[in-house]
Amino acid sequence: MPVCGSPRMLAFMTRFDVDLFVIGGGSGGVRAGRVAAEHGAKVAIAEADRWGGTCVIRGCVPKKLLVYASEVRRTLEDARGNGWTIEGATHDWPTLIAAKDREITRLSSAYAERLRKAGAEVIEGHAVLVDPHTIEVGGRRITAANILVATGGRARRPGSGWITSDEAFHLPALPRRIALLGGGYIAVEFAHIFQGLGAQVTLVHRDKLVLRGFDPDLREAVTHGLSASGIEVVYCDKLALAGSTLTLGDRSIEVDLAMAAIGRDPTSAGLGLVEAGVTLDARQAITVDEWSRTSVPHIYAVGDVTGRVALTPVAIREGHAVADTLFGNRPTPIHHHLIPTAVFSQPAAASIGLTEPAAKAAGHDAVVYRAKFRPMRYALSGRDEQVIMKLVVDRPTDKVLGLHIVGTDAPEIVQAAAIAITMGATKADLDRTFALHPTTAEELVLLR
Ligand code: FAD
Ligand code: NDP
Repeated sequence: MPVCGSPRMLAFMTRFDVDLFVIGGGSGGVRAGRVAAEHGAKVAIAEADRWGGTCVIRGCVPKKLLVYASEVRRTLEDARGNGWTIEGATHDWPTLIAAKDREITRLSSAYAERLRKAGAEVIEGHAVLVDPHTIEVGGRRITAANILVATGGRARRPGSGWITSDEAFHLPALPRRIALLGGGYIAVEFAHIFQGLGAQVTLVHRDKLVLRGFDPDLREAVTHGLSASGIEVVYCDKLALAGSTLTLGDRSIEVDLAMAAIGRDPTSAGLGLVEAGVTLDARQAITVDEWSRTSVPHIYAVGDVTGRVALTPVAIREGHAVADTLFGNRPTPIHHHLIPTAVFSQPAAASIGLTEPAAKAAGHDAVVYRAKFRPMRYALSGRDEQVIMKLVVDRPTDKVLGLHIVGTDAPEIVQAAAIAITMGATKADLDRTFALHPTTAEELVLLR
C-alpha cells in the first residue's frame, strides 16, 4: 500500500525506453495505454492475439450481436398477435457469423488505430518479463519505468470433448442438439442464443437455480425464463461426456455439441511475473491494492487477471485510473461497489447493489419493494412473461441499497437507475420522480 499518497513518483523516469509498457491489448490495457499516451507518457503496448481482447473479439460484443440475432425469434412469435403474418422465416448461421466477423474486424482495427493516434507504440506479439523492468516481445527487449499487466483470463475446460465460448463464435454450422454446462452468465446467455437460433438446448447446472450470487427473485425468474423458452434445465452434478453421449446421473442424452461455461482463470502463467517478484493468490490472480499496484511497486495489473470483478467496464475503469494516477496528476484509487451488471438472457436480468440476503447479512434493516406485472409489450401477443422489479432500501436512511430487474429492458433501466443510485438516491427521491408513461421503467417510481 502506498504510504504517502498515490504512486505517481515512479512516472516519467527517463532512464528507461518507455514510461509505461502495457502487456495485453484488451479492455483494461487499451484504455490505460491510450490515456497514458494522451497524458504525454511514452507508451508501448503489446497484444499477442487481436486488438480489443476478450470483450471485443470473443466476449461482450460478438455475444450481444448473437443475442440480437436470436431475439428475432421472439419478435416473430409475437408478430401474429399484432396482426402480422410472417411465413417461411428461416435463419442462416454462416451468414450471421460472417456479418459478426466483419464487425469485429472493423472494431479491432479501430482499437489499434486509436492507440496509434494517441501516440502509443503498438506491438504485435507475446510479451514476457525478463526482469522487473524489462519486457521481451518479438525478439526485442524494451525497458520500462512502469509495467501494466492486463492479460485477461481464459475459459476453464472440464475435459476433452467440451468446447468453450471461444469456439462457439466460430462454429461452421449451428448444431441441432446442444448441451451447456454451467449456470453462470455465459451458459445462460448462450442457452438463449442457441435456442433462439433454432437449436435444441439442454442446460446442465449443479444447482436448482442459475446465477448464484444474484438476488433470489432474479435467479428464480431467469431459471423460469430458460424453461419457458423451451430450454431443458437439468439439475445434476454427476455427468460424463463420451463421444456424443452425455450421461446425467442415471439418464443419457445424445448431443451434437457440448459447451462448458464454468468460469474463467486469470492469464498469469509463463509471463515471468513470479520471477519478477509479483505475488499471485491461490487462484493465480495477481494481487493488487486499490491503486492496482502489485507487490512490485512499479508493476500494475488491471482487469480479469486480478480476479476482482470480471466485467469490461471495470477493467476499463481500472486501466484509466492507473493512467490518471501515474501520468495525469489525478490519483484515482478504485473501489468496487455499486457496479451494475446484466445477464443478457431472454428476458434479460440486471442488477446493481445489494441483494436482499446480502443487505440483511450486512446488518441493514432492509425494506423490500416488489412489482411483478405483464408488460404492455406483450398485451396483444399474449406472451406469458412477467417483469419483476425489486428494490432494496435501507429503512433508517431511506437509501436505495439495490435494484434487481428481470424483463426485456432490464439492462437499459438499471444502467439509467445506476446514476441515481450512485448519487445516493433515496426511496423518497424515486417517489417524487414523475413517471414516464407508458413504459416498463415507470414502475420504478411507482413502487409502494
Ligand atoms: P482481456 O479483454 O481478456 O484482454 C487481455 C488481452 O491480453 C488479450 O487480448 C490477450 O490476447 C492479451 N494477452 C494475454 N497475454 C499476453 C501476453 N503475454 N502478451 C501480449 N498480450 C497478451 N463483460 C461485460 O462487462 N459485459 C458483457 O456482456 C460480457 N460478456 C462476455 C461474454 C463472454 C463470452 C466472455 C468470455 C466475457 C464477457 N465479459 C463481459 C467479460 C469481459 O470480456 C472481460 O471482463 C474483459 O474483456 C476483461 O478485460 P481485460 O482487459 O482484463 O482482459
Ligand atoms: P460464472 O462464474 O458466471 O459461472 C460459472 C458457472 O459454472 C457457475 O454456474 C458455476 O456453478 C459453474 N461451475 C463452476 N465450476 C463447475 C464445475 N466444475 N462443474 C460444473 N459447473 C461448474 O462464469 P462464466 O464462465 O459464465 O463467465 C465468466 C465471467 O465472465 C463471468 O463471471 C462474468 O464476470 C464475465 N461475463 C460477463 C457477462 C456479462 O456481463 N453479461 C457475460 C459473460 C461473462 P456454481 O454457481 O455452483 O459455482
